[in-house]
Amino acid sequence: MPNYEELDKEYIWHPFTQMRHWLNEPQTIIEEGKGCYVKDAAGRWYLDGVSSLWANVHGHRKKEIDAAIKSQLKKISHSTLLGLGNIPSAQLAEKLIEIAPRGLAKVFYSDNGSTAVEVALKIAFQYWQNKGRKKKRKFITLANAYHGDTLGSVSVGGMDLFHKIYKPLLFKSIKVRSPYCYRCADNKAYPSCKIYCIAELRLALLENSADVAALIVEPIVQAAAGIIVWPKGYLKAAAALCKKFNVLLIADEVATGFGRTGKMFACQYENVTPDIMALAKGITGGYLPLAATLTTDEIYNAFLGDYAQKKTFFHGHTYTGNPLAAAAALANIALFEKEEVLKNLRPKIEFLRNGLSKFRELAHVGDIRQKGTMVGIELVRNKKTKEPYGWEEKIGIRVITEAKKRGVILRPLGNVLVLMPPLSITRAELKTLLDVTQESIASASSCSISLQQKNYVTP
Ligand code: PMP
Repeated sequence: MPNYEELDKEYIWHPFTQMRHWLNEPQTIIEEGKGCYVKDAAGRWYLDGVSSLWANVHGHRKKEIDAAIKSQLKKISHSTLLGLGNIPSAQLAEKLIEIAPRGLAKVFYSDNGSTAVEVALKIAFQYWQNKGRKKKRKFITLANAYHGDTLGSVSVGGMDLFHKIYKPLLFKSIKVRSPYCYRCADNKAYPSCKIYCIAELRLALLENSADVAALIVEPIVQAAAGIIVWPKGYLKAAAALCKKFNVLLIADEVATGFGRTGKMFACQYENVTPDIMALAKGITGGYLPLAATLTTDEIYNAFLGDYAQKKTFFHGHTYTGNPLAAAAALANIALFEKEEVLKNLRPKIEFLRNGLSKFRELAHVGDIRQKGTMVGIELVRNKKTKEPYGWEEKIGIRVITEAKKRGVILRPLGNVLVLMPPLSITRAELKTLLDVTQESIASASSCSISLQQKNYVTP
């Protein structure tokens, strides 16, 4: 049998990975999946605690999605949307509009979350150009935002660790603080604060709205920043401010979409219809790369005109509207209906909430944030002072290493441990996830205490 780990190490450059570490440590190569579990090439099974990077919805090898892809394979795997249409992408567009917040009417396809955002930014920019409002070219974004890795989406991102080095390549955006309640910059507490932090957004709009095309947000949950859950009312208030100041609202639901927060889309918690909405990840049930940027008719209509007027949206990717991916997405959405996924999720969300409440007793658990099945556990060196662990202490990495030994795959965001299981996870599997996470935090953080005592810092 070939050694797949060696093969991987010889040829692959992994994303977001220091390859020196990758090469020096044993690595897991996944061969197979079933339900909420994945199996490595050595035959060991692991619980997929982060849905294969927040994508998987109904489990791996879900019968209905497998069948939809196989059936589409018998017809055609790929045909372009540049100059042609295809059946699954048209059917899916209709379905997406049916389930999306009311008012969204058109679907522009691409292949991943970053391109869905890139498309959203370009559409917002060109919308105002086409309308003759040439000065409306800027974007307002929130601190801690993450919208993807392409240069446009990095320009509206707010995570210095990932983005700082590319600064010379980026366009400038207007940044306002994010409602990160655990580390509130104003030292206030919700709800008595009455969402005080939104004043900064109001001021930014007041001063700049004539130059601003859109506000872009990850609605309700800023995921990559560490599952920062917004206080109730922030999204609604932000949407109202956008309306008042004639600025478009872009909702990046790449991570939050498709049931992850407990509703189909996070915007639905506050009855917000954005002008533009970006979708990816869970759209195909986590099977194939596909993304969609949805817009209102108002936006779409601003791009209509005679050929010579050049109002066209000159953007498109080779695999835009890929029929296999669209077939998977149709099966994914049908499963939400057939299996009443969102209804059945409610007791599981409560079970998760109860289980997590016990984590508060752990010495190094500073904050626990949850929206639906999205969970962030912020680990701190000192609970009282909220002193964070140093980057070099790799606390998140140490916890997930412990979890892996116990048969659970997790992935941290710095000092925040993330749980984001497939929506199909059973109660028994959730219990395993909770037990292993608790044990792994206890084990890794007590080890950090001994490291501190020895005054030892890892390089
Ligand atoms: N937007 C959000 C909110 C995300 O969480 C992500 C990915 N984690 C992206 C955009 C980028 O998606 P992709 O990795 O598919 O490019």
